[in-house]
Amino acid sequence: MPSWLGQAARRGLLTSRYPVAPATPAETPESARPPRPSGNSGVPVAAVDACPVRALEPSGVDDGKCIRCSRCLAHGLGYSGPVEASAATRDALVSRGSAPPLPAAKRAPLADFGRSVHVFLVDVGSCNACNLEVLALANPFYDTTRLGIFFTNSPRHADVLLVVGVPTEEMRAPLLRAFEAIPSPKAVVAAGVCPISGGVFAGNAGVLGPLSDVLPVDVFIPGCPPTPVNLIDGLLRAAGRSRPRGGA
Ligand code: SF4
Ligand code: SF4
Repeated sequence: MPSWLGQAARRGLLTSRYPVAPATPAETPESARPPRPSGNSGVPVAAVDACPVRALEPSGVDDGKCIRCSRCLAHGLGYSGPVEASAATRDALVSRGSAPPLPAAKRAPLADFGRSVHVFLVDVGSCNACNLEVLALANPFYDTTRLGIFFTNSPRHADVLLVVGVPTEEMRAPLLRAFEAIPSPKAVVAAGVCPISGGVFAGNAGVLGPLSDVLPVDVFIPGCPPTPVNLIDGLLRAAGRSRPRGGA
């Protein structure tokens, strides 16, 4: 035991400082950021054609569709600097030219809580990568319990419904049952481009479409998958708790 204590004292604090301090470059790798056109000339047609998920228009980038595949980087786009890691509206994920996305003005659904939030996770059809990033929130580095964010196995004990994966016909009923079981006030958070836009699965047989066609979504967390920092940002946004910029 004394050697453990000695080691801990020597190493100091290893847990992420985010969101008290902005996320570090290691926590927000370039490749996790959405691309942006360089300059004010808009998105080149070659980049629009190269995008496999139609996230690009000549006028801008839809972060709610972008899977960070990097194909457009060969056609005049580059990774953005730090951007808002989550948004309260779908429109706020669409940037136009080099202008930043629209500011998110919607009031956080749990803004009056002033306390911890409990999160119930539902996977409605993911590739499992988003689940792994959610799992990372419980490790000693991100440790969301320090922020009053706890995961629960019962929707009846939850405040937030966190949805990963693309909404499918098979999961419609379980998803609605989970939503109904959460007491009000409650928030719905869409994590990853799958529940936001369908991602790579959009238009496939059995896919219902965006989560917002099924449930009222309060917070949108882009990424494929979102980083743990993005997830923390989105959950804090749902809870109406302030945090600095610095996500991806
Ligand atoms: S990174 Fe890939 S998905 Fe994102 S805008 Fe570029 S080409 Fe489209
Ligand atoms: S958003 Fe990307 S990483 Fe997450 S479930 Fe969909 S395909 Fe997988």
